[in-house]
Amino acid sequence: MSRDTDEVVCLHSFEYVDHVIKISQSDILGNCRSVAEFEKLNRVGEGTYGVVYRARDTVSKKIVALKKVRMDKEKDGLPISSLREIKLLLHISHPNIVRLKEIAVGRKLENVFLVMEYCYQDIASLLDNMSTPFSEAQVKCLMKQLLSGLEHLHFKYIIHRDLKVSNLLLTDKGILKIGDFGLARKFGYPYKPMTPVVVTLWYRAPELLLGSRIQTTSIDIWAVGCIFGELLSHKPLLPGKSELNQLQLTIDLLGTPNDKIWPGYSELPGPKNFTFRHQPYNNLRHKFPWLSDAGITLLQQLFTYDPSRRISAQVSLKSSYFKEKPLPVDPDMMPTFPEHRNFKELQDDFLHAHVGKSAVAKRHAEEPIGTFFGSEEIKGLLKRRK
Ligand code: ADP
Ligand code: MG
Repeated sequence: MSRDTDEVVCLHSFEYVDHVIKISQSDILGNCRSVAEFEKLNRVGEGTYGVVYRARDTVSKKIVALKKVRMDKEKDGLPISSLREIKLLLHISHPNIVRLKEIAVGRKLENVFLVMEYCYQDIASLLDNMSTPFSEAQVKCLMKQLLSGLEHLHFKYIIHRDLKVSNLLLTDKGILKIGDFGLARKFGYPYKPMTPVVVTLWYRAPELLLGSRIQTTSIDIWAVGCIFGELLSHKPLLPGKSELNQLQLTIDLLGTPNDKIWPGYSELPGPKNFTFRHQPYNNLRHKFPWLSDAGITLLQQLFTYDPSRRISAQVSLKSSYFKEKPLPVDPDMMPTFPEHRNFKELQDDFLHAHVGKSAVAKRHAEEPIGTFFGSEEIKGLLKRRK
């Protein structure tokens, strides 16, 4: 949205983002509620495209997440990424995809908020702060939910394009929700070229690293493989420092690709310009010596180099890995975890010797913080992944 004259406002259509509709000042809030009806409680996250608050809906008294749409680079209305996020989310309803309840607006035209169901954790901050890794049965529970949400997205012709642990949310009932649709796109057949730089480096599929402009649902599947590895080993699987280093780490783990296993490989811009060191071994078994054969097979299928042969979310869900022991726990049997993000401000207060100044901080200080967070974990609270 952008202010045109005092009386008239320009609104980009959700359907055709280049199309501008003029509406009068009296109608600018449309059917949206004012953000003043939400009491902001604390900030839970800040990513590339917006700040996220935990807030209370003063009408329904429910706790919600408010994601403020970031406008700083925009001179002329809502960023296109936010329009896409809103439009896509409004049309999806699945238990494993975060629910966009409504849009709220502030007094200034540029203050636009997505009102979403509130999730207690994101998996990145959980991994950063939990002292014992997830059990394999818990990993299976999370993976099944991730794959179910993704199966639905792909069925709806949506590629998420930024799957990573900080975009996976967890409710207090152990339900995983895929969030952050800022980079998501609709696709159709045949696939059309898209902007190459998507997906956070550590989760980026080799075809993107090698310069392919065709993005398919398989790029999300590769990211799922990285997330699976991260949940199992409690640390990022392929934490590259640059695109080249990311490719090297991938090759170290999975071997050097070639035209035999990936037809068309040598025609990609990357291999045309670089020759990669020959590494003939697949080191997945070496990396996960304790994982069952079914688990290794699933990882391997998620990490198939050739995107056209990479497994789909739908087929992955049928993997025998999810049917063998240890069986996935039921979501409601997932442990509950302390809400690190909400504690963070309190912990900061605590660390800065302000305990007692705020009644809430005091209440938490009296709780056995040490048993929640060892000193290492307090340090961990201060470092957040993006
Ligand atoms: P960005 O595009 O800026 O990365 P995200 O949608 O990923 O925005 O939100 C950033 C962070 O905010 C997430 O990593 C998560 O910690 C938190 N967050 C986002 N949505 C919710 C939600 N619905 N409930 C609780 N926390 C959320
Ligand atoms: Mg994000």
